[in-house]
Amino acid sequence: MARYTGAVCRLCRREGEKLFLKGDRCYTGKCAVGKRAYPPGQHGQGRTKASEHGTQLREKQKVKRYYGLLESQFRGYFEMAKKRKGQSGENLLSILESRLDNTAYRLGFGSSRAEARQLVRHGHFLVDGKKVNIPSFLVKPGMIISIKDKSRQSEKIKGNLEAGASRNAPRWLEYDRSNHVAKVVALPTKADIDLPIAEHLIVELYSK
Ligand code: SF4
Repeated sequence: MARYTGAVCRLCRREGEKLFLKGDRCYTGKCAVGKRAYPPGQHGQGRTKASEHGTQLREKQKVKRYYGLLESQFRGYFEMAKKRKGQSGENLLSILESRLDNTAYRLGFGSSRAEARQLVRHGHFLVDGKKVNIPSFLVKPGMIISIKDKSRQSEKIKGNLEAGASRNAPRWLEYDRSNHVAKVVALPTKADIDLPIAEHLIVELYSK
């Protein structure tokens, strides 16, 4: 299945929540969720009563869209989560949050996950001093994430760092802001995600 290339604000409106897909705009009064708080389309304002399956499906779609993943990738992460010790739903969130593109976004290197993913693909970031251009690369405790020297001169990255200067890095990343170097100090948990997620609904959906 191809990646969605339409207007991303429609995705937030469909889920009825801010998914923070558009960088700085998401934090302004221009956010479409605030302005039109109903699903997009001709029947968006009609009454809808979701079935149990529909509720589970929406929760899965919400998280998938939040991280910008295709169904097959998302399902693959769920299978990986099941094999880990602990609860599958919480493991799934920890894995998703550990992706390198998400890590770069959390550090403010990219203004959105989509932009952070593109910057990773273009080889702007280092993990333990080595270039890693795979957005799905999973970071682990002890790893050091940094920006390539040459890439620090990029206007795009400089602008992102300035814009994100007031944002706090999550607790699982120890961030040296002056040098733009971060150490992964723990595995991320559900508490580190700024979106209400009922992960048990995703587990129920995939367990049918
Ligand atoms: Fe658009 Fe961002 Fe608001 Fe979502 S959160 S509707 S992407 S502005």
